[in-house]
Amino acid sequence: MTGRTHDMAAFTALTTIVVTQALPHMTLATGIVAVVANLAGGITPDIDQPTAPFWRNLPIGKYVGTTFDKFLGGHRFLSHSILGAFLFGYIFHYVLHVLTPSFPNLNMTIIWWSFMIGFGSHLIMDTLTTEGVPWLLPIPIKFGIPPIKALRIKTGGLVEKFIVFPGLLLVTVYLLYLHYDKIRLLLHSYLK
Ligand SMILES: [Zn+2]
Repeated sequence: MTGRTHDMAAFTALTTIVVTQALPHMTLATGIVAVVANLAGGITPDIDQPTAPFWRNLPIGKYVGTTFDKFLGGHRFLSHSILGAFLFGYIFHYVLHVLTPSFPNLNMTIIWWSFMIGFGSHLIMDTLTTEGVPWLLPIPIKFGIPPIKALRIKTGGLVEKFIVFPGLLLVTVYLLYLHYDKIRLLLHSYLK
């Protein structure tokens, strides 16, 4: 899937969690950083792809991307597995831990979960594509849904552009509409 679809999927997943779980109390800053962390988490697994949007926007991205590519074993390798989720989750947890004293207004637990929801949504979305995802690395088998490759979605193809992306957008808007009261309550508690 493209970075745009991954970001949309990450936000859809976050919205689903927000509307179905009990509302945590948080500051406005936490809410904003959590959404940014969610979108970043949604594209982070693709740092093993030198052509990923993650790298393309950086001036030296091409070189850093190629280095990371070799280090992580090529596209859809370590960062596209449960082991990788634990590894990246651990690193991000450490980074947030180091930053905590400087940002007392931020709830790092919410931000961490938001990042991981984005990360997880990425692996689920890529499972629907032709290439599949090596969920169980170091066992080098790529899993895909449906199991028949020909029926899966081609990255950047018409199905992704005209069905998957608009579908995710519609689901998100519908969820927000359906749980409007809860979202309003959440926004109100931010403004206090
Ligand atoms: Zn990916």
